Amino acid sequence: MAQPQPGLSGSSSQPVRLPPRVFEPEVPKTDEQWRAVGREATALLSQYVAINTTNPPGNELETAKWLQAVLAREGIDAQVFEPKPGKANLYARVRGDGSARPLVLLNHMDVVLASPEYWKVDPFAGVVKDGYVWGRGALDMKGEAIVELMTLLTLKRAAVPLKRDVIFLATADEEVGGGVGAGWFVEHHPDLIRDAEFLLNEGGTIRADASGRIEYYGVGTTEKSPFWLDVTARGTAGHGSRPTPDNPVHRLVRALNRIAAYQTPLIVTPAAERYLRDLSAIEGDPARRAALADPRAALRDSTAARALTADLTYNALLRNTISITGLRGSDKTNVIPPVASATLDVRLLPGQDPQAFLADLVRVVSDTSVAITPQGPNWPATESSTETELFRAVVAAVQARDPKALVTTPPLPGFTDSHYFRRIGIVSYGLSPFPLNQEEARGVHGNDERVSLDDLTFGVHFLYDVVSRVVAR
Ligand SMILES: [Zn+2]
Repeated sequence: MAQPQPGLSGSSSQPVRLPPRVFEPEVPKTDEQWRAVGREATALLSQYVAINTTNPPGNELETAKWLQAVLAREGIDAQVFEPKPGKANLYARVRGDGSARPLVLLNHMDVVLASPEYWKVDPFAGVVKDGYVWGRGALDMKGEAIVELMTLLTLKRAAVPLKRDVIFLATADEEVGGGVGAGWFVEHHPDLIRDAEFLLNEGGTIRADASGRIEYYGVGTTEKSPFWLDVTARGTAGHGSRPTPDNPVHRLVRALNRIAAYQTPLIVTPAAERYLRDLSAIEGDPARRAALADPRAALRDSTAARALTADLTYNALLRNTISITGLRGSDKTNVIPPVASATLDVRLLPGQDPQAFLADLVRVVSDTSVAITPQGPNWPATESSTETELFRAVVAAVQARDPKALVTTPPLPGFTDSHYFRRIGIVSYGLSPFPLNQEEARGVHGNDERVSLDDLTFGVHFLYDVVSRVVAR
């Protein structure tokens, strides 16, 4: 197994020593050949995870250069764009015959913070042990990126005749929800991307049970839209020893109390209804099965509605949600500040009007000295159709493994970079290559993030099956 390469995570002046190429220049056919591809993916992921791209600051230029070196060895030219010092987006295109429009393999290079004291291993050492690659990004989404990369390398090494160009796009700043990543790329280099018909990204799930049996393959076709708000209360400043009647902290607390108690209405969107109905087919408990099969009826019955929304994910798919997350008052215990503020993480369902939601919230607070303002521009929730060649390819690749497997379309309560591409007309799906049980899925943004070597092998084989179905001539 690969050893972490000292120097890669530290100084960029070290020459990049890539792991050896282990599989033959042909499309793998046997399980043993796919395991060889999985071993190469493991060695690459170990190096990739060891380049610390915690955002902020991200330092994606280092990962971009590393990816550029991996691609160069295969004879694939990649362009690296540097929108800011240390920040980068990488773009590569493997040509087809142009008879069909391109497919984009999208991934982000940055990762979220890891606190080493809570981990069993160093999160940035690229540790391979006990059958896993460990480290921040192993799942989200350096592991998925390596699977995309191996898919591209397999097509290239085997010289598979292509009808579509395959674009590999690795971006910055996904984890900070803006910045100079995918949105910057779409805005500044639309010519490089806008001929694409399809895009694959994070945001899907292959849900497995504790024993590893796959419960369903989930393709991400839609996600909620963030509508982040500031709540600001103003009043009279003063000394804490002489209370004022319009202390803004008191006013803010009253407003937040009303917001916390506010139950947003339950709404069954077509996407949520379709997903819940799909899930009813694999639900063992009769009462839950009935609720999932007809969520509209379930929500009219208060007991069934309580049971359904007790599941945090279902709850998030059935209403606009509000989480109070940030609070600010005075820095000094004995000073009444002139202003107190809070932040709200609001997520809206597809089809919801942000201004109407804001008006509802103002009514809930009903205090004209408390202002509620959007933090920035909001975009409507986006959705891609399932009536496409790419979706049919996913279903075919799944059914080739298990004819009875469930393919469904879980709406995402969070969001990914896919909305930038859906908004310019590219059909974009979240497609995870890894079957994860609940314990493994907790590694995403959590501690001990890791991906098993078996899942890496499964992932490259599965993604290759999907992609080759749509791009090969
Ligand atoms: Zn991610």
